[in-house]
This record gives sequence, C-alpha cells and structure tokens, in this order.
Amino acid sequence: MTVKVAINGYGTIGKRVADAVSVQDDMEIIGVAKTRPNFEAFMAKKKGFDVFAPEDKMKGMEEANLEVEGSIDDMLERADVVVDCTPGGIGEKNKPIYEKAGVKAIWQGGEDHELAGCSFNAQSNYEEALGRDFVRVVSCNTTGLCRIIKPLDDEFGVNKARVTLMRRAADPGDIKKGPINAIIPNPIKLPSHHGPDVKTVLSGIDITTTAVKLPTTLMHLHTVNMELNSECTAEEVEALLAKQSRVRFVGQGITSTAEVMEMARDMNRPRCDMWENCVWNESITIYEGELYFFQGIHQESDVIPENVDAIRAMMEIEKDGTKSVAKTNKAMGI
Ligand code: NAD
Repeated sequence: MTVKVAINGYGTIGKRVADAVSVQDDMEIIGVAKTRPNFEAFMAKKKGFDVFAPEDKMKGMEEANLEVEGSIDDMLERADVVVDCTPGGIGEKNKPIYEKAGVKAIWQGGEDHELAGCSFNAQSNYEEALGRDFVRVVSCNTTGLCRIIKPLDDEFGVNKARVTLMRRAADPGDIKKGPINAIIPNPIKLPSHHGPDVKTVLSGIDITTTAVKLPTTLMHLHTVNMELNSECTAEEVEALLAKQSRVRFVGQGITSTAEVMEMARDMNRPRCDMWENCVWNESITIYEGELYFFQGIHQESDVIPENVDAIRAMMEIEKDGTKSVAKTNKAMGI
C-alpha cells in the first residue's frame, strides 16, 4: 500500500515533510496547499508537486502564472492523510474540513494537545497513534526532550527533570520576528509550556521548564538537569544516549550551535537540516547524584522524521515503532 499524503501549509515544516515523505517507499505526496503564489509555491511546482489552494485564492494564483490543480477540498479528496503545517492556531480551524472530507490529519506543535487528543513522539509512544484519525506531532523542543527522557526513564527511572531552554527567536528565513538585541525571559510567568507539553507524551514524568528567547536563528539549546531513580555514572548515560538513533554526539571542536550548523552543511544535509538531537557528550555529568548535559535542537527539522512515523502509525502500515523509526531514518539518511 502506498499512502497518499497531502500537505496543507508549505512553509518551514511543510516543505520538509513533503521532501521526507517523497523519499519513503510506502507513501507519496499527492499535493501541497499554498495560500500565496510566493517563491515556495513556485519551488513546489518545480519539484513536481501538485499545488492546491483555498477556493478564494485560486484566481490570484492563476493570475500570478502559478498553475493550480484545484481547491483544498479537491486535494483532500485524493488523500488518505493530511499533514497540517499551517501556522500555530490556524490548523485548529481546519479540523471540520478534514472531518468532512473523512481524511486522517496530523497537526504540529503549534496546536493544542486537545485538538488531536494524541500527542506523538515516535520513540516514546508510537503505539498510541496506531489507527488513530487525529495525531499531533509535538513541537521541536518537546520532541528533543522526549527523545532523551524516554530512554533515560526506561533505563534508570527519571525522578524529576528540570530543563532550561534557550530558544532561537526566529527561523533563518523569517523577517517578521525578533529580538535582534535582547534576551527575553519568555514566558516570564513560570514554568514554560514545554514541561506540560512533554507530559502529553510521557504522562508520568515530573518535569518543569523555563525558557528564554535569544537573538539567534540557528538552533535552540537546552540545559538538562535530571534526578534519576537509580545510581549511574556519566559513562553509562553516555552509552545509553549513544544507542539512540535520533541523538547525535557533537565534539571534535564543535563548541556552538553555529558549528553544528556548519557541520550539517559539510554533511550535505538538505537545507543543512540536523534531524537529530545534538548532545555535547563531553557535558554529560553526574554531580551529587544529578545528571546534567547540554543539547542543541534544530527547530526547523527535528520533527520531520516524527511526522513520517506518525503517518505510518495512523495508517497502521507498520505496527512496530522501532521498525518505522529505522525505515524512516534509512530513507532520510539519518
Ligand atoms: P511557516 O509560517 O513557516 O509556514 C506556514 C505555511 O502555511 C506557509 O506556507 C503559509 O503560507 C501557510 N499558511 C498561512 N496561513 C494559512 C492558512 N490559513 N491556510 C493554509 N496555509 C496557510 O510555519 P512553520 O514554522 O512551518 O510552522 C508550522 C507549524 O509547525 C506550527 O504549528 C509550528 O508551531 C510548528 N513547528 C514549527 C517549528 C519551527 O521551528 N518553524 C518547529 C516545530 C513545529
């Protein structure tokens, strides 16, 4: 079976999900929806994707010489599953359209957990998404946290986790957001929403997070602190994280997010994407029984393989999460 996938919203996340789906042998892109005839829409066309648009935007697209296959309803008619990658808060409004079309839907982390009723991270709760009609792939930061907390909890038991997130202010292509010369405690009222968001995937974890926004676009950086239930050494934690396929150790002179991105360029990764959590293994420390380390999260790309796995789980074409993760990784080159 080849799953027919539609992408609604072809921006930072949407275009990456489209490319990641295209390299899988059990799913295909049947169309992407754009609201504006901008360079991304023309690029989608050039890549061979059929472009669709909301009914009231179709005329404008044609006037800009962008050939449109049909409306969003037309696109949904052809699809088994739609990946909604519209800006946070917009996706919620699309739910009735998806329900009416009888199509399964995946939303991103900008939407609330309640919209889908199932928040997803492939290595944490793949089975929960099996056969579901609606799933939400959690945000970049939550994905990054789940990927390390789940194996540490399975192996040692996480008694509590306390994480400081230093967040990039905007994506590299974003011209609307700041700051350009400030550090913003955000939100000032603590804790931040990221900890509760992790609990939508890993309900038993005691986690609290604080977050600040920095004038950088490259990556987020997390300072992770955990109390584990069983005694262990830094070497044991390092050995466990080394086994996680979506965790990459960074060292060899890499001392910053800038150098991580430079390495991604050197690896010829598409769009210099870094799909894995980047853990500075040198930073893994046990101090007075508590674990500490730093990890970098490439916000534009870490959720992409998770979307592919979510499609497989919802369509039940692979019941085993480990096998889906391995298949996705292989096809994408992770
Ligand atoms: P984006 O702004 O880069 O792209 C959104 C796309 O949707 C654009 O192509 C835009 O033209 C289109 N769009 C706008 N209004 C629309 C509408 N009414 N209907 C259909 N399409 C519309 O946004 P993004 O960064 O890709 O974010 C998408 C989702 O992914 C959000 O929920 C966000 O929270 C989440 N997310 C973003 C990141 C990130 O770092 N960018 C990381 C993880 C998750």
